[in-house]
Amino acid sequence: MGTRRPRDPIARLQIGIRGAVQGVGFRPFVYRLAKELALSGWVGNDNRGVTIEVEGERGVLEEFLRRVPLERPAASVITHLEHEWVAPMGATTFEIRASAAGSAKVAEMLPDLATCPACLAEVLDPRDRRHRYPFTNCTHCGPRFSIVVGLPYDRPRTTMAGFTMCPRCGGEYASPADRRFHAQPNACPDCGPRLALWDGNGEAEAVGDEALAAAAAALAAGAIVAVKGLGGFHLMTDARDEAAVTRLRERKARREKPLAVMVEGLAQASLLCEVSEDESIALASPQAPIVLLTRRPVAGLANNVAPGNPRLGVMLAATPLHHLLLRATGFPLVATSGNLSEEPICTDEREAVLRLGGIADRFLVNDRPIARHVDDSVAAVSCGRLRLVRRARGFAPRSIALPSNGRTVIAVGAHLKNAIALSVGGRAVVSQHIGDMETLEAQAAFEHVIADLVAMHDARPAAIAHDLHPDYATTRWAQRSGLPCIAVQHHHAHLASCLADNEAEGPALGVIWDGTGFGTDGTVWGGEFLLGDAASFARAAHLRPFRLPGGEAAVREPRRSALGLLVAAFGEQVLSWDDLAPIRAFGSTERTVLAAALARGTNSPWTTSAGRLFDGVAALVGLGERSAFEGQTAMALEFAVDPSVRDAYPFDGSDWGPLLAAVVEDVRRGVSPGTIAARFHNALVAGIVGVAAQVGCGTVALSGGCFQNRVLTEGAVAALTASGFTVLLHRQVPPNDGGIALGQLAVTARRLGPLELRTE
Ligand code: ZN
Ligand code: ZN
Ligand code: FE
Repeated sequence: MGTRRPRDPIARLQIGIRGAVQGVGFRPFVYRLAKELALSGWVGNDNRGVTIEVEGERGVLEEFLRRVPLERPAASVITHLEHEWVAPMGATTFEIRASAAGSAKVAEMLPDLATCPACLAEVLDPRDRRHRYPFTNCTHCGPRFSIVVGLPYDRPRTTMAGFTMCPRCGGEYASPADRRFHAQPNACPDCGPRLALWDGNGEAEAVGDEALAAAAAALAAGAIVAVKGLGGFHLMTDARDEAAVTRLRERKARREKPLAVMVEGLAQASLLCEVSEDESIALASPQAPIVLLTRRPVAGLANNVAPGNPRLGVMLAATPLHHLLLRATGFPLVATSGNLSEEPICTDEREAVLRLGGIADRFLVNDRPIARHVDDSVAAVSCGRLRLVRRARGFAPRSIALPSNGRTVIAVGAHLKNAIALSVGGRAVVSQHIGDMETLEAQAAFEHVIADLVAMHDARPAAIAHDLHPDYATTRWAQRSGLPCIAVQHHHAHLASCLADNEAEGPALGVIWDGTGFGTDGTVWGGEFLLGDAASFARAAHLRPFRLPGGEAAVREPRRSALGLLVAAFGEQVLSWDDLAPIRAFGSTERTVLAAALARGTNSPWTTSAGRLFDGVAALVGLGERSAFEGQTAMALEFAVDPSVRDAYPFDGSDWGPLLAAVVEDVRRGVSPGTIAARFHNALVAGIVGVAAQVGCGTVALSGGCFQNRVLTEGAVAALTASGFTVLLHRQVPPNDGGIALGQLAVTARRLGPLELRTE
């Protein structure tokens, strides 16, 4: 300590903090820090975040100001911190104030967080009063986004409002030293939500711990149980039981798409898959996403969980309910979204009985309402960090910095893998994954999510950003809204999204490869090199166009992509090339009809789609004549790659003709699919570097669904980096169309002048 310094004058500091600072124990943290430093004043939540007023010696206040951002709770995020010195008021105590209502609601809603170690220890401790209680949580963990019904975040504005805390829970809630101080969902067996097990018709069979035991017994007997989790229902079944998995697939109409598996902990995950250090961190993180891992050859799982797929989506139990259920069963559980095919996930138990009655044998439910649907997030470790494939639980609705003109804009996203976004207070709030806009249920969920985000933020949208595609349900919704509309070209949105995701201004060369997007010339784009930034772009290069026989039908039938490519490259003679699998797959009448259609251009749109190029080559190699889900054959081509093959087909980044000729030659020579797949991927990487070198822009942004392909992405990053380019990959939103809304907001922020609106 040394010599005692003279007393500083008393001062008062007003601090405003914005970001993810509510519901993470921020006020208790401030309270404890103020007490430690013997400061007086108060801390409170408001609609903008957290406000603090502290009074004491000036030097101590400066220390307080320095330590708040350094020592903030782990789950919190500070996006703005401003302070002002004001006149001291002679305060003598420090208190936590009740929430105040204010004007613009820019406080952040927090994502749901996985059960923390301290809570799990209590749940597993027979002497603890929360032993085996499935709804245990604290300020470090538990539900947030899935229970909030209004801001600021306080118990009366959550779906816990109907549960009155017992004296012991109330005591914890009120005690600044307690881990549950102001933990809004705080509950215990005496006062909180309860479990129940229902039969297939919604009749109660058991409650409480008996319900959990009966559900585990049903799972052990091969039943399909719909389990109400944080953000909706899972359909669960024994992941080792092939017959049970078959039943689930048949009832859910999900024939081949891989199913995710939930396990108790890291040790169990390691039995099924190889788990790297980064992957184990991701699995055990508070976000607890499904992580795509490489399967072990012999893992004791049913073959039909992820048929023909070297990867497996694995998540760890992330709530006490799931921890208890997995400990009770002792085996891994298939955990797939509680929905029919691609519809939105069910959140309400009565609705679940109606919609999932034909799928689930039992329903493990509880009486805590779910405020909004939140699916599991899906991610994979690639190029040194976790990359999202689907952004939902644990990540949404965390906001993303956005270069903004301060206008409030709704971005409605694209058509598949839809998520929407709202710009508010200079940040983008990107919604949770909504899904494919193919069904009325999905469209209803889309409208619900928009209304929800607008209401939660009390937003007054000035405009709506939508995809340039005139027929998307999302475009039509925007045009019906009555608000000014800004159309954003699909691949430009991908580029702007990747820039915003990296807080980069650009310009950059966007290598934007995906399945489909409406181009400014009215054709189907998808293999684009766009040079530009959020404000504008030029189409620097693109894949050579080809006609796609049957248009959208080609997504499910890769042989159509192959046919379109072959006819474009070699003419109609290919119709007699019966040695090629995709030609053989068509009958003679079909060939004649399709050839005529291609010649006249009937229902055979021009495309530059990289996704369809993948499909076509996969079909040529014989990796599937049909895709049960988008990207299935393209994924099969990626998985086939023999990494020891270093050479490449000729490809300049645009004309795939020489590449296709080389593929056909290799197929005819009987070269292995692994070698062909490797030479193809290597060619694409070389082509990307070639175009980048020609364009000469130092920054290259990779976006679009094709960059979920790790071989392509890691190859491109390595080659571009070696050639001196700075490479931008997505970090906070997926490279697929789940990231489009963020890009639409970024483009709109640059387009939307203060007075007039312009469209692309
Ligand atoms: Zn906890
Ligand atoms: Zn209680
Ligand atoms: Fe796309």
